[in-house]
This record gives sequence, structure tokens and C-alpha cells, in this order.
Amino acid sequence: MKSFKYSMPSEIYFGKEAVLNNRELFKRYEGKAFIITGKSSSRKNGSLEDVIKALEYCEAEYILFDEVEENPSIETIGRAAELGREENISFIIGIGGGSPIDAAKAIGILINNKEYDARSVLGAPPLKSVPLIAVPTTSGTGTEVTQYSIVTDHADKTKKNLGQSVFADITFLDPKYMMDMPYSITVSTALDAFSHLAEAYLNTGANLLSDTYAEKGMDIFGQCLKPLINNTLDYEIREKLLWASTLGGMAIAQVGTSLPHGMGYALTYFKGLPHGKANCILYREYFKVFKDKSRINKILNIIGLNTIDELGDIISKLLNVDIEVTEEELREYTEAFAGNEAKLKNHPEKITKEEIYNIYSKSLLK
Ligand code: NAP
Ligand code: ZN
Repeated sequence: MKSFKYSMPSEIYFGKEAVLNNRELFKRYEGKAFIITGKSSSRKNGSLEDVIKALEYCEAEYILFDEVEENPSIETIGRAAELGREENISFIIGIGGGSPIDAAKAIGILINNKEYDARSVLGAPPLKSVPLIAVPTTSGTGTEVTQYSIVTDHADKTKKNLGQSVFADITFLDPKYMMDMPYSITVSTALDAFSHLAEAYLNTGANLLSDTYAEKGMDIFGQCLKPLINNTLDYEIREKLLWASTLGGMAIAQVGTSLPHGMGYALTYFKGLPHGKANCILYREYFKVFKDKSRINKILNIIGLNTIDELGDIISKLLNVDIEVTEEELREYTEAFAGNEAKLKNHPEKITKEEIYNIYSKSLLK
């Protein structure tokens, strides 16, 4: 059996009213809290209110930064960090989807390391963040249990990993925040969760532990497929999607993501495709190119399907994406991705540039 290391230091509190039922935990930190969130959803789904109630119960001071955009930019992160430094904050609470929580991780690093700014921190040696609490309101990224922070670098016209390891100290998982999530965001984030589970399973580093998480997560995701297709998303299904997403996060925290994630960044950056859709639009062709069909067949079997095309058809129906790309653009994306060694090394098989281009072109050219 392959040797492996396992580390996942976040405490998880899962279930209805996870924040308020565990509000004593906020007493663990002294000083001022810095709440980082997106523009409006956390106000509507009750997550911001719960966190504020918990802080008030603990008589903790706080300030709020609610300007994190989707695919957070280095510039926004820099602005928030400046505010956090001025206000002398001592811990961070990221509330929302992957964007605000990833931003919170980067902001936490900058507040604790004043010699860096949001650009120079890219490529810095390992740094520590101030303590972080995560309250996810989407069920897709798993960022609440991963060390990654994905930021948008407009200078390089791409998204990249901050390159630091920041795990949340505490993660509160409450499916009630997802109950009114629009269908399109639900689909995109659910597919993101599936892509983490699958890319961890088809990964160079796949091991006993990441496989255990991935297999269980895919089993749960499979139970959600019909409700996703039929848009019958009750509490029980929301709960399952959240757990599948967290398991996906725990799996990629160990082994990382691979080709579709790296290839999808260009589709998000240049074509505005949401992250989960950008990965999964490539999945039919990614699975076809993957040579070890025993692992592919295992995935299909776990989620209750028979063929790659059956999965591809379901994904196409769920995605409902219509984007215009040219051969020339796809050649450029292929060139850029060919330099992404971090993702390529996670793909356990030899793959040529032409095969990468073919994944793009067969998935996207009409
Ligand atoms: P997101 O970009 O955080 O949010 C997408 C949209 O969903 C926003 O408009 C947001 O509104 C809204 N939203 C969030 N929660 C909602 C809810 N409960 N009800 C209704 N609307 C809601 O989406 P995401 O897919 O969760 O995160 C994507 C980002 O995470 C990408 O940058 C991706 O690269 C990154 N990611 C990170 C990891 C990791 O391990 N760190 C893994 C995968 C992906 P507001 O703006 O108003 O809040
Ligand atoms: Zn992802």
C-alpha cells in the first residue's frame, strides 16, 4: 500500500444552527473580529446575522468587509487587508462561498505579515495567518477544510493559488444557509464538489485516505443527482450536497486537483464561466482521455451510472452553458495550461499538448 501523510487541522461543527449552538467557541479568540463576506447573499441567507449574534453574545468587537467579488482579486484582498491592519483585528471570519472564504485566508496572511502586500505575498515563503473561522454558504468548494486560497491576478490574466497553507481553525456547516440558493449556483457548486472528488480519485497522489473520502463523497453526490436534475432540493439533499462538498475538500486538501481545474481557470477568467461549470464542461472529454478506465468505471459505478456519455449528457443538461470560443483562443489556453506544472503533476498519466487541446476543443467547439 502507498505511504501517505494526513493532516486536516480544522474543527468541524455540522448541522442545523451550528453557529448559534456553538457560539461559546467565539470566546476562544481575544480582540476584534474581522468579518469578510460577499456583497449581499450572507445578509439574505441568515449566515451574517448568526455570526453577529454569536459575536455579540461573546461581547466581541467586530468590523465588516462585505465587498468580496466572485473570484476575488488581489486588489480587493489588498484593500481589505489594509483595513484589517488599521483596525488591529485579531481574528477573521469568512462567510459565504469560496470567494469570500478564500479572500479571508489571504487577508489573514497579510494582516499577520505586514512586510508583504497582496502582490509580493505571491511566492513568499510559508507564512502564518491570524486565526480563521469559516462559515460556508455554498456547497461546492470545500475551502472550509482546505489550505488553498484561489485568487485572481489581473496582471497575469489568470487565477492562481496564493501559495500559502491556511486552514480554518473552526468550520461551521449549516445547510440552512443553502436552502434558497438559486438553481444555477446550486448546480455549479455541486459540480465543483463532484470535480474535487473525482480529481482526487484520479490523482497521482491518490491514497487510502483520499480514496476513502472521495468514494464516500461520490456515493453521496450520486444520491443527489436525480434531485439536482429535477430541481427537487429539500433540506435532506442540501445536507448531502454540503457533506459531499466537505468530503471533496478533505480529499483535495491531501492530493490537490488536476487537469480540469487548471484548464477551467481560463474559461472563468476569459469567458466568465462560474468555477464549477468551467471544470465540469470538460469532464466528458477528460474522462475519455483518462487511460486507466478501471478508476473511471469505479466512479461511474459509485454515482450510479454506466457510461461516460451518460455522465456527459447529465452534466451538459445541468450546465446549460453556451459560450463562444475560437480555435485560436483554445490554442492560447492550451499553451498557458501546458506551463501549469502543479496541476500536470497531479495527473498520473502522460498527456500531450494535443490531447489537452482536444479536451478543450471537443468540449467547446460547436
Ligand atoms: P462564490 O464565488 O463564492 O459565490 C458565487 C455567488 O453565489 C455569489 O454571487 C454569491 O453572492 C452567491 N452566494 C453565495 N452563497 C449563497 C447562498 N447561500 N444563497 C444564494 N447565493 C449565494 O462561489 P463558490 O463557487 O462557492 O466559490 C468559487 C471560488 O472558490 C472560486 O474563486 C474558486 O476558484 C474557489 N475555490 C476554492 C477552493 C479552495 O479549496 N480554496 C476550491 C474550489 C474552488 P454574494 O457575492 O452576494 O455573497
Ligand atoms: Zn473547484
